[in-house]
Amino acid sequence: MSDRAEKSLPDDFRKLSLEARRAALKSAYCEEDVDLGAVLGEDASAADRMVESAVGFLPVPFGIAAGFLIDGRSYDIPLAVEEPSVIAAASFAALLVRGSGGFATWATEPIMSAQVFLEGVLPGRELGIEAREGEIRAEVDLALASMRRRGGGYRGLEVSRNEETGLVRVDLRIDVRDAMGANILDGAAERAAGLLEDICGGRRLMCVLTNGAVERRAGARFEIPVRRLARGGYSGEEASRRIESASRAAESDPTRAVTHNKGVMNGISSLALATGNDTRALEAGAHYWAAREGRYRSLSSYRRVGDALEGRIELPLALGTVGGSVARLPATALALRMLRDPDGPGLARIAAALGLAQNFAALFALVTEGIQAGHMRLHARKREAEA
Ligand code: NAD
Repeated sequence: MSDRAEKSLPDDFRKLSLEARRAALKSAYCEEDVDLGAVLGEDASAADRMVESAVGFLPVPFGIAAGFLIDGRSYDIPLAVEEPSVIAAASFAALLVRGSGGFATWATEPIMSAQVFLEGVLPGRELGIEAREGEIRAEVDLALASMRRRGGGYRGLEVSRNEETGLVRVDLRIDVRDAMGANILDGAAERAAGLLEDICGGRRLMCVLTNGAVERRAGARFEIPVRRLARGGYSGEEASRRIESASRAAESDPTRAVTHNKGVMNGISSLALATGNDTRALEAGAHYWAAREGRYRSLSSYRRVGDALEGRIELPLALGTVGGSVARLPATALALRMLRDPDGPGLARIAAALGLAQNFAALFALVTEGIQAGHMRLHARKREAEA
């Protein structure tokens, strides 16, 4: 093993300046002639402002799935993703659905829950919490003054006791408007915790949002005449029947549902990354929703309706258009501008349509020509370009 391989970063790495961190990284892990600017970006100051111990940026391909028709408006959707087939698949579905009237979407109000977990609450003492809701609301409102000015804020509470752990959980329902909301919710829960302790005589264990976000949902649907689905030697009728059959497989078999839902998130996570949203929060919320009935199921479904195949999707979508890291970088700001600067629910509606498109394209390919054919075409194109 060479001397360089033995080296690692100094213990105070995180406290060093950006320049010193880059120098330490280069000395520990790079050959002499490596140009770190070319590898991690010349200017890493924005990364330094965003995360601890930053050394630069990882370039992820940023592409556009053009030509979506959503609720009568045309959208070119920015996607940040490393997987070769994602943008091609979304674009293919966008075109097909566009020619059939487009996507119709909906979204709920952006209400999320902040949770206060209390331990040591004597049996029944938690019943006093609801009776004093007015005081709790006033306390939470103090943390949410600007949110109230924007039309958001406190929307109610729910109290429950977990028989297994004995912990009391208070869910504070809060409308976070156009933010993803995690910090807002965490702050509100911490604000309320002292009063909740006083009311029921317990001690706070933790105060944090739930990424379940089941109240903050969006959905989309489309219809495509089955005659337009002829592909790979299958008639439109047969392709439609096969898509519906594959949909039923995902609805009843969790081992298939997880891959079906991965296809949905191919689109949604890529849009989230392109706009600077929290991809992990969205994924966690989506999978929680898929498993809400105790068995993991698909997020979308397809059925024959008259002469058409109908696709539907519904899932929690905690997407922000302000706050956090949203639009903090020039590319993520551009991504939001391309979508005409939607509000939070507006971005969720676009994401729902995109997730359905992505999933439909994968399913359509799978049950007709097979998924590898498209992938191989893309690889061949890439190889040609590299030759
Ligand atoms: P934030 O802390 O930046 O808060 C949003 C800010 O935007 C607030 O100051 C609010 O007043 C302001 N704002 C301006 N216009 C607004 C509008 N129209 N609607 C709503 N707010 C408006 O961000 P956040 O959304 O509270 O938190 C998101 C961040 O928290 C993300 O970076 C996420 O990764 C991170 N996070 C996530 C988790 C989790 O998911 N479990 C936990 C902790 C932190």
